[in-house]
Amino acid sequence: MHTDDAHSARLLDFIARYPRLVVLTGAGVSAGSGIPTYRDREGNWQHSAPITHQAFVGSDSARRRYWTRSLAGWPAVRDARPNGAHLALAAMERAGVVELVITQNVDRLHQRAGSRKVIDLHGRLDRVRCLDCEGLQSREDIQRHFAHGGVHPQPAPAAPRPDGDADITEPAADLQPPRCPACRGMVMPDVVFFGGAVPRDTVACCKAAIDTADALLVVGSSLQVYSGFRFCRYARDTGKPLALLNPGASRADPMAALKLAANCAPVLAAVANHLTTTPAAPPPR
Ligand SMILES: [Zn+2]
Repeated sequence: MHTDDAHSARLLDFIARYPRLVVLTGAGVSAGSGIPTYRDREGNWQHSAPITHQAFVGSDSARRRYWTRSLAGWPAVRDARPNGAHLALAAMERAGVVELVITQNVDRLHQRAGSRKVIDLHGRLDRVRCLDCEGLQSREDIQRHFAHGGVHPQPAPAAPRPDGDADITEPAADLQPPRCPACRGMVMPDVVFFGGAVPRDTVACCKAAIDTADALLVVGSSLQVYSGFRFCRYARDTGKPLALLNPGASRADPMAALKLAANCAPVLAAVANHLTTTPAAPPPR
């Protein structure tokens, strides 16, 4: 049997036993859409470390550097398209298998693939939030604001990163960080940077979904970040089986009932195909 077929057969077997899943997704799911992962298979940083919440809020030069890089990195995220992994998870939701997707990605590709029940654990990059009045504006407005001001993305090296950042080390000389159009306050992407906190209500919603599901499936994440890893711990502590689909090692490997070391898109596509073409078994009498 082809390896992907073997993996999808094992995942289907898991789903037969635990038919209602909460799925936690990470950067590996969006890698096939051209948005790279932060870490390699060994969990090492592939780029310079990302900006922290503290640096963004506390340092004007850090903000200018962030917006310089974001100016170059955002179009790649904006223009990315869902790949087979996103489409398969949306099909699995329609088939009644996926109760909720909790994603650590900020690219909104699950929603664009058709998933309806999604929690953006780390926020969304297509919006910008005012730190003073909480007002929201679209990220694309910021891009237009820079363009009107005559500030344009620097040419290469501008490899996109998962948070829409890019590998540029020096801020553009003429770039001023954008301000809130309503109150002139400081704005930042509506995302949780490293060092920032996921809102407590969001965490509670995720845990409530795990409570009513049969199992937790993690896809495309090495779970190095606590904000995602906590749900694996929560599943373990509440007696919910954990399945992992990720090519490399992950922090939750020791607590997993099922570990599939594979790229997610082909495995999920085969599972979704099976679920949508094979009639469900009749309920036991
Ligand atoms: Zn404001």
